[in-house]
Order: sequence, then structure tokens, then C-alpha cells
Amino acid sequence: MDVLVVGWDAATEKHLSRFDLPFLESLPHGGELLPEYPFDKAGYISSANAWTTLSTGASFEEHGMLGFVYGPYSDHPAWNLITKIATQQWLPPLLRRIMIGRVLGTLGSGEKGSKGEKIDSADIEFKRIWEYLYGDGLIYGLPLTYPTWETNGVMVSGIPAPKPSEASSPVVYPSEYEEFVYDDEDVGYYVEMNSPVNDSSVAEEPYCAAHQTRMEANARKYTELYEETESDHDFEFGFLMLRGLDDIMHATTDVDILEKSYELIDTLTSDVVEAIDPDATLVLSDHGMRPASDYRFDKDMRMDHDTRQGVWGATEPLNLERHLDVVPALLEYLGVEEVVPQGRGAVDLVMSESDQGAVQERLEDLGYA
Ligand SMILES: [Zn+2]
Repeated sequence: MDVLVVGWDAATEKHLSRFDLPFLESLPHGGELLPEYPFDKAGYISSANAWTTLSTGASFEEHGMLGFVYGPYSDHPAWNLITKIATQQWLPPLLRRIMIGRVLGTLGSGEKGSKGEKIDSADIEFKRIWEYLYGDGLIYGLPLTYPTWETNGVMVSGIPAPKPSEASSPVVYPSEYEEFVYDDEDVGYYVEMNSPVNDSSVAEEPYCAAHQTRMEANARKYTELYEETESDHDFEFGFLMLRGLDDIMHATTDVDILEKSYELIDTLTSDVVEAIDPDATLVLSDHGMRPASDYRFDKDMRMDHDTRQGVWGATEPLNLERHLDVVPALLEYLGVEEVVPQGRGAVDLVMSESDQGAVQERLEDLGYA
């Protein structure tokens, strides 16, 4: 494998510098990683939006993926006004977040919640990074990769894919690997309890422990899947999403739990890198976290996204500063000279209605929607 990217969803600069993380510290290059305007200044970005930019090289105005709970954003006449308000630094972060999340979402992306249409892989009109390569990708847990499509490599759908048992089509491509991936009941991104964000009867510790178990199982499975499929593929590019930190930090501010979670993600990444031995490794987060506003009335969220706290660390001098830099920098490292982003051509994908219902439930499980 030429490049392995490990997504540390929500890994936060001020936490990383505080804990002892030998793998991350061993990476010679790195720094902060910010989203594009207006999300950098508005202080809020959804993982759906961030990971779409990080994997396609397309800007938000091009791809329109605002958040998991909305449909695709299409240009709205109030964009300039809303972004102007949302980027006023004297306004409290919660208000700026509402302008971007709620107001822009409702005006430009349709109705929120169970009635509204939600984004899925079919809404992303651009090639993903490995689709520029001659070799194959081993892609695991990248958001918005369900429904799966015919692609060069092996792909395990990330959130908000339905669970395999409730999905109308396989959540792994090629489908023959689905059973291999999901033979371990801890694999996947959904835990069997409500989030404390939505349900105050759920204790923080077992909920966070369940997400830690998921991270361990997904990291282990990624290596197993590599070993299982390697002889049939020329893996040039790998992606593994470890998204537990995002769910954990929405649910707790407990320093011991945080320390354990960061140490775990560091160890798991080190284990995967040791097993697969890629030529280059990039660790990155889509955003960081900060304590949630006391005025957040809708949910009991302990921490909320902070767009100024995202980070990257790598074995190579990729010189990243913004989300939009990631795809071009990796393609340049891989020796691919292509204009980014490129449309992915006609892809015949439709998400079924039963899938849409399942996705709504899974988003609620995670405390979204
Ligand atoms: Zn995220």
C-alpha cells in the first residue's frame, strides 16, 4: 500500500497535546487542518461536509453536503447574508452554529428529521480520491459511501449506512466480503444503546466504552480485510475511519475517558500501520471539539464541533492547511497529475425507502437528527 489515511474523527489539537500519544508524536510532519470559508469562521462543520471535501477535493459549494440530517444543499439566495452573519466573530458560537446548521440547512437543503430527504452516496457527484488511481483502494468507514457502487477496490460503507441486516443492498463492495467483515458483532459504527445526548438515563461510561470497543473491532477488521483481499488487489490507497472520538466527546467531558480513548486510537493506528506497512501514513481529523454551549436547549451535548482544532500528522511533508488541500497533496505524492475535482460520470444509484427509514434511526442512535 502506497498511502494509508487514518481518520481520527474529531481529534482535537488541545487534547492531543495534553496526552501521551507515541504514534502521533512519531510522525515528523503535521499541523492544524482547517475547513474552508465560511465553516472555518462560523466555527461549525458537519462530518458529512468535511469528509466529502477531504475525499473528493470538491468545495462545499460544489458538493453541497451540509450535514447527515439534510438533503443536498443547492444554492440559495440568502447564502451571502447567512454566511456573513455566521462568520461574525463577536457573535456567540452557538448562534453562528445555528445560522450554518439550522438556517442554511432549512433554507437550502430541505426539511430536517424523519420527514426530510437525507444525503447518501448517490448525491456526491465527484470521484473519490482512489478513483483517480490505477491501483485499488481499501476503503473502510468513509462517510456517505452507501449505497455502494462499482469502484476500484474494496469498500465498507461508513455512516450513515444502515446495518447490514436492515440494508436493502450490501453495505460492502464487492458484496462477497460482507459476511467476512460483519462476522464480528463489534464491527460497525452503531452501538446498542441510546446516546446520552438524547437520553439522560444512559450513563456516559458504558456508552463510551461501547464506542471504544467498536474502534478496536474496526481497526482489527481493517487489517484482517487487508490480509484477506490483498492477493486479489493492488492496494495503492487505504482509508480507515476511527470515528469513536466524535461520539465519545459528544457524550462526555470526563478527562479519564478522553485520555483512554485518545491512547486507544493512537495504539490502534500504530498496530494497523505495523501490520500493513504502507509507504506513507496520514492521520487527520475533520474538526476538533470544544465544550458545548450551556444555552444549547435541544440536546444534552457535552462537547460540540470546533473547526479551529482539526489536525493532521504524516510521514511525508504534505504541507496541508485546509481540507481542500488533502486530495491534491495526496495525488501529487502518488504521482497523479489530474485536475481535481472531477465528476464521476453517470452512476445509477438510488437509495430505497426502507433504507431511508433505517438511516433515520441510525442517525438518531448517534444523537443526530
Ligand atoms: Zn466528525
